Amino acid sequence: MSQVTLHKVVKNYDETPAVRGIDLDIADKEFVVLVGPSGCGKSTTLRMIAGLEDITDGEIVIGGDVVNDVPPKDRDIAMVFQNYALYPHMTVFENMSFGLRLKRVPKDEIRQRVESAARILDISELLDRKPKQLSGGQRQRVAMGRAIVRDPKVFLFDEPLSNLDAKLRVQMRTEIKKVHQKVRTTTVYVTHDQVEAMTLADRVVVMNAGLIEQVGTPNELYHHPRTRFVAGFIGSPAMNFVPCRLEEASGALRILLPGGHAFPVPAERTERYRRHAGSADLVFGLRPEHVTETHRNVEPNQEAFEVTLEVTEPMGMETLVYFQLDGAEVCGRVNPAAGAEAGQPMTLLADLNHMHLIDGTSGLVL
Ligand code: ADP
Repeated sequence: MSQVTLHKVVKNYDETPAVRGIDLDIADKEFVVLVGPSGCGKSTTLRMIAGLEDITDGEIVIGGDVVNDVPPKDRDIAMVFQNYALYPHMTVFENMSFGLRLKRVPKDEIRQRVESAARILDISELLDRKPKQLSGGQRQRVAMGRAIVRDPKVFLFDEPLSNLDAKLRVQMRTEIKKVHQKVRTTTVYVTHDQVEAMTLADRVVVMNAGLIEQVGTPNELYHHPRTRFVAGFIGSPAMNFVPCRLEEASGALRILLPGGHAFPVPAERTERYRRHAGSADLVFGLRPEHVTETHRNVEPNQEAFEVTLEVTEPMGMETLVYFQLDGAEVCGRVNPAAGAEAGQPMTLLADLNHMHLIDGTSGLVL
């Protein structure tokens, strides 16, 4: 069993806090992605799990053993970096088997393990080539192969795809997912790219300023963000935010935006929000896909409003529209056939069934 547990883990570089006390439980066979903006502490966290950084305080447990004082080579982990650091003078086979040869694993077993990993990665044909005869994606696979042959307790990935071009990155993302489905090794993966995080992870850990903001499945984070930070970080284009106040009139609540636009709050949210009625320190959140063109079958809690479009971005299957709504820039996603045109007025539909209300001071989603 290869669970990884972090108890109140802290890392300070001299006086600067990089990781400020995080707790995290990673289950055996789980694929967990640490994601967050640059400098939030995700690489430091990964490097502490690997043993490449000392921890200032707290405890790290791998497979039931506290590893705080265990050197990296004895932690039974394998790390894949963004610069794959293959040995240029060695063949793919030699690169992949290097670690096993150092450990004096018998020759037959080495061959068997390398060939099995090569099959998983679909690089059996490349074992005699040198790294310079490989494409970027193939090199990435060899780097993964080197990790797989060691059959470690845990794989650690540090932004492994950031050197690849956009198309290859998407392709390798799928490859990594397939490999994990085959080998099922517990994996901790670091990226700043929320799409990569969402597509790969069983669970995503969103970090911000040295702390964990939220841990959840991709769908939990997307549909039920607990903070404004997570709401804004997960999803592209990002969730729209407009400062607002909440008003109550004859038992019903409504959102009032600074320029006078008003949206009714769905009746089933009344209980949840009522105690915030009268508050002016709130933020209204709505994802772009819940701002669409109007259509014939308008459902309850969908409210039409008129804007002047500033920019339109045709994406093929949809058109992104940008406009000002009471002082905030807002993005919507409309049907390409809806005739959206920059500079022109358009009637849009806000689907308030999917609205979020956020406390302006604490940043907590209500
Ligand atoms: P991320 O991987 O999320 O971009 P890091 O974990 O690399 O962030 O860094 C977290 C914080 O710690 C940043 O403020 C960074 O500047 C600082 N930091 C990272 N490594 C060092 C180091 N070796 N010495 C001093 N500060 C560091």
